[in-house]
Amino acid sequence: MGDALQALDAEITDCFACPRLVAWREEVATVKRASFRDQAYWGRPVPGFGAADARIAILGLAPAAHGGNRTGRIFTGDRSGDVLFAAMHRAGLANQPTSVSADDGLTIKNTRIFAAVRCAPPDNKPTPDERDRCAPFLHRELELIRPTLRVVIALGAFAWAAWWPAMRAVYGVRPPSPRPAFGHGAQWTAEGVPALLGCYHVSQQNTFTGRLTPAMLDDVFARARSLAA
Ligand code: SF4
Repeated sequence: MGDALQALDAEITDCFACPRLVAWREEVATVKRASFRDQAYWGRPVPGFGAADARIAILGLAPAAHGGNRTGRIFTGDRSGDVLFAAMHRAGLANQPTSVSADDGLTIKNTRIFAAVRCAPPDNKPTPDERDRCAPFLHRELELIRPTLRVVIALGAFAWAAWWPAMRAVYGVRPPSPRPAFGHGAQWTAEGVPALLGCYHVSQQNTFTGRLTPAMLDDVFARARSLAA
């Protein structure tokens, strides 16, 4: 299964299917942010990160322009990642509290992290077409970790919404109608599929304003660990 996941990662990083996102990821990688001007940006799709036998999945929206799109690893090199991996470290799921570059020694256990869209989008807003074009990568990744997966943490409403078609595609389970509303702490469970947990996105917009606090993240990870046990 690890080999299949590696093959999928390689396939994802070589995808050029969305012209607008390809142009954007490459433009950001060329223009750069002034503080990173001496660094070579990744400028490609960002694959998932973490264990092939994950019991917990963390599903985000898309890589950040100067985070994952710069470093090549999801939630790496920006404030969102700082908050996420600090919480994972407190929860015993990461060996260190920081995530600054793809070769910084970070390892995570029992967890796989990925995004619904694998390329950084302008304004963090993929179009519906881009979302749908990228969805098969998510579905294939879920299929590969399906034997062990027990809990999915959806970071934000976009990821929450991306779960339903993924669940139908991978598990053959029809999503509930109406769909359960996203909210921080929202939980949805059903027979034969991983539990779904809602969590506010770890974006600066939420963490700088106090809408999402470290204690709130700790609660989510405690619940995820308990559901995954
Ligand atoms: S968003 Fe997904 S489908 Fe579109 S180019 Fe990036 S990896 Fe390919």
